[in-house]
Parts: sequence; structure tokens; C-alpha cells
Amino acid sequence: MIDYESVLIKHRFKYKKSLGQNFIFDDDILDEIAAAGGADGKTVVEIGAGAGTLSRAIAKRCKRLCSFEIDETLFPILGETLSEFDNVQLFSNDVTELGIETVDMLIGEEYIVIANLPYYITTPLIFLFLRSENCKAITCLVQKEVADRICAENGGDFGALSAAVRAVAEPETVRVIKSWEFTPQPDVDSALVRIVKRDGAVFSDELYSFFKICFAQKRKTLVNNLTTAGVEKQKVLDALSALGYSPTARAEELGAQNLKALGETLKMV
Ligand code: SAM
Repeated sequence: MIDYESVLIKHRFKYKKSLGQNFIFDDDILDEIAAAGGADGKTVVEIGAGAGTLSRAIAKRCKRLCSFEIDETLFPILGETLSEFDNVQLFSNDVTELGIETVDMLIGEEYIVIANLPYYITTPLIFLFLRSENCKAITCLVQKEVADRICAENGGDFGALSAAVRAVAEPETVRVIKSWEFTPQPDVDSALVRIVKRDGAVFSDELYSFFKICFAQKRKTLVNNLTTAGVEKQKVLDALSALGYSPTARAEELGAQNLKALGETLKMV
């Protein structure tokens, strides 16, 4: 067992709130995350290696771990905590800057994502990996309210992120993890979410843009949001009516599959 906090002190590590650094040290929780993510025998991508705590739990189970970390002050620490593994590759790139095609090329094979995500870029990261052809599942720790949005089927919590996830995957909350399990302790609890993509489902750039338009102003009707984006009003009204919705329907009422169908009828996805 590694005393991570001593290693961090030895290297005079300072937590950076701006990078969403809230680490987990409890080996039981870490192993539970790796197992829930389905790491066994797989190629796994981790965003944010931190001190290598979750990386170790994953590396013990997986075939190959590709872990991204942008804080280079963590690299000497990771050199220590991950020294016994020969199946781990560390990358210092920011995947949101690389883009998903480059990430997929770097990994070069099918993979799953398992991560305790930096909270400030949770949503862009999930959108990014939904658009990957090689990423088959995403299991991640996110703030509890983000987990609620990811798993919503319709209604108040349902937004562009929920629609995107449901369009290509089945999401579920595995468990809540209380804020005191993190160091430093954040203000809110987190939840472990598992998003498993349906076979062959692809989240296209067009669908991404369409959902963004539908939810551009959440309180406004779909007709409003779509006409603001330049779509002819009568076309939207006809498409909504064909799907059995009123002219005043909002995006959150339709759910992912009907929204996708609306985009198809309007020839926007
Ligand atoms: N995996 C570790 C754990 O569970 O204890 C650390 C998780 S911590 C919530 C998130 C980590 O992501 C931090 O180490 C932070 O430096 C890193 N990070 C932040 N932005 C990043 C980015 N754009 N790409 C890769 N890593 C990033």
C-alpha cells in the first residue's frame, strides 16, 4: 500500500483548484471505480492521473492504461506511484485541445474511459468521448448535479448533455461518493456514472450542433430556438406535429430519441 499523502508532501505538491484537483486515496473506493468501469483486460483511458491513485487501481486490472495529466508537477510523483507497472503510458496533453480524432489515433484501438474527472471540464470531456468511434464506455466521477443531468430522461434536469448521452448510450448512476472522500474536500458530493454506448451508435457533430440549438435557451420553445437559428417556422411546426407535439413544446419534453427524430425530419442531423 502506498502512503500517497506522504509522497505528495515529499515532493512539496500544492493542490491547484483551477485544475479541479480533488484526489481520492481510499483503496476500496478506487478499486470499486476500476471494477465498475469494467477495467479488467481492457485498454483504458484516464483523464487526470493526479497522484496515480485511481491509475494504480485501474492498472492492476487492465491490459493497457493511457493516462492524461496536464499538471507536470505531478509527473515525478507519478514516476514513483506507478513505477511497478509496465502497462501504463502517461501523456501530458490536454485532450480537449488534441481533439477526439487525434486521441483515437494516439490510442490506436478500442478503449473505455475511467476517470475522476476535473469538474471544470466535465461536460466538454463527456461530449468529446461520446463523439469517439473507439470509445465504448465512459465511467466517471462527476459532481452529483451533473450526474443527475447526465441520467435525466426528460424534465427539468434534461438538457443538451442528457440528450447527447441518451442518443447513443445508456447512462446509470452507480453510487454517490460523499465530499469527505476527496482531498481537498469539495463543497458538494459526487456520483459515479457509467455511460455504456449502444453498439454502432455514433454521436455526430451534426447531432451535437442540433441539440445545442434546441437547448440554446432552455425556457424558450423549440420553435423559438430553431427559428432563431434560421430554420423556417412552418417546417418546425409540421415536424413537431408529425411527432405528436404541440407548437409550444420545449426540448426537455421530447426526450433524446424524439429530439433526434425531429432533427432527422428537419434534415439537420
Ligand atoms: N485521478 C486522480 C484521483 O482520482 O485522485 C485525480 C483526479 S482530479 C479530480 C483531476 C485531475 O485531472 C487533476 O490531477 C488535474 O490536474 C487533472 N486535469 C485537469 N485538467 C486536465 C486536462 N485538461 N487534461 C488532463 N488532466 C487534467
